[in-house]
Formats: sequence, C-alpha cells, structure tokens
Amino acid sequence: MSICYLNGNFENLNQAKISPLDRGFLFGDSLYEVMLSSKGNIFKLDLHLERLNRNIEELGYKIPREIDFGQILQEIVHKNRHINQIVYLQISRGEDQVRNHIPSETITPTIFIYSHPMEDNFGLSSGEKAMLVEDFRWRKSKIKATSLLANVMCRIQSKQEGFFEAILYENENVTEGAVSNVFFCKDNLIKTPPTSQNILPGVTRAVILDILKKNNIACIEEDFTISQLKTADEIWVTNTTKGIIPIIELDRKKVGSGKPGKSYKRVAKLFLNELKLS
Ligand code: PLP
Repeated sequence: MSICYLNGNFENLNQAKISPLDRGFLFGDSLYEVMLSSKGNIFKLDLHLERLNRNIEELGYKIPREIDFGQILQEIVHKNRHINQIVYLQISRGEDQVRNHIPSETITPTIFIYSHPMEDNFGLSSGEKAMLVEDFRWRKSKIKATSLLANVMCRIQSKQEGFFEAILYENENVTEGAVSNVFFCKDNLIKTPPTSQNILPGVTRAVILDILKKNNIACIEEDFTISQLKTADEIWVTNTTKGIIPIIELDRKKVGSGKPGKSYKRVAKLFLNELKLS
C-alpha cells in the first residue's frame, strides 16, 4: 500500500479520507499535476511546480505559507521507494460548510499527494492508433484542472473504438490530445500548436521543443488543420506518463509509412537519454 500525504499528514492511502463537501468533489474546483520520478528524482520538477503555481494564482487558492510542495513530493517519493514512480498531486480549493458555488472566505485548500509504481518501461514505441474528435471541452483547458469530464468521455470513446488516443480539433485546427500534446511532421518540418487558452502547456511538450531546438531540428509552434494532419509524414503525442508516442494510424488510415518514422526515432532517443530512467 502506498503512503500518501493529505493535509499535513503522511498516512496509508487506504486510510485517507476527504469530506464529501470538498469543492474538488462538488465542483471539480481543483488542480492537479502528474510527475515522473526515477531513483528519487522527479523529472522536471521545476516545470511542474511553475505550472502548478501559475494555476494556483489564476484560481486564487490560498496555500498556507509553510507548504513546500517540492519537499513533500520528495518525501512521498522517498517513502514509497519504487525505483520509477508516477507521482500525483491534487489541490482543491478546500472543504465547504454548505454547498455553494461561492467559496467561504476562510476556506483552506485540501492537498493530496501519492505515488504508484510506473508500469511502462518507456522504450521506443512501435506506434499507436488515434482518432479525431471535435474538441468540446471548456475554453480554459490551459488550466490543469481535475474537471476532466470531456477528456474522460473522449478517452472512453477512443478506447471503445480501439484507439490509443483521441486527437482533438476546434474549427478545423488541431488543439491537443485528450491526455497529450500533438506534434505533426511534414517535409522535415515539425509543428505543434502554440499554447493558448485551450491547450495544456505540457511539460513533455516543452522538453521535446527544447530537444528539437538544441539539436537544430526544424520546428515551429504554429496551428495546423486536421486536413494537414491527415497528410503528415509523422504524428507524435506526448505526455508525462507515456513520454513520446508515434501515431501510425489516424482514423484507420496509415500515417506516412504506417511505421514509427525516422524523426520520431531520433527525437525519442534524445528524450529517453534526457529522462535517464532506471
Ligand atoms: N494535454 C492534456 C489534455 C493532458 O491531459 C496532458 C497530460 O496529461 C498533456 C497535454 C501533457 O502534459 P504533460 O506533458 O505535462 O504531462
């Protein structure tokens, strides 16, 4: 059983309890981060905390001064011991006295952190299939909020229809995946949509962009349409728990050669090198 942190205490996950009047439960009024840890180190912890702190500020959560997320996260990773772990952090605005859209003035956040062993070993992928789904989420998906019903519906649909991921689009433009960011390669140029109100600024996306820049691989942050995506030489999706995955079929049609492309192989190796998983 893993050890979790809940509001100041470290305890067994199966003993942790949160009130039904918590705003995370009632309204989805909560934020989260998913991180990867190897041999006790959380990969790009600074980028995860930067995004978390931006979101905390945007939503006006009142985090007590003494809370040091970095230190609690390291403690959880240390207590749970697995060599490679997925670490989950969630902060809700807190527990209400009565259900009310407007929070009480004195509310204090609920902070929950736990980790579990990582299942994947993150080698080079042989490729996955994706489908296109119209993006029907709210218009602030840049906030990493737990109100993920639309994403959950897309994931259930894509699983039921035999796809690994749903790639979302809005007015013909690709936004992102239901749980990932999207990269599109055509004629040796790589594109990913620019961050906007409706795209989560993924940590993996930022790491990949950095790798591309450092290795002089041509890449721009620019919108592209689903018609353009359908002509791609390569498509990749990226996130913390899967890394970088090549999409070899889109809506049941081959992408490029129908196999992971050469750009994917090059960039994935550079990424795995940076990750240094055990
Ligand atoms: N976009 C969405 C909608 C996500 O849910 C995720 C991660 O779960 C990402 C992008 C990728 O973000 P990150 O690379 O920080 O995991």
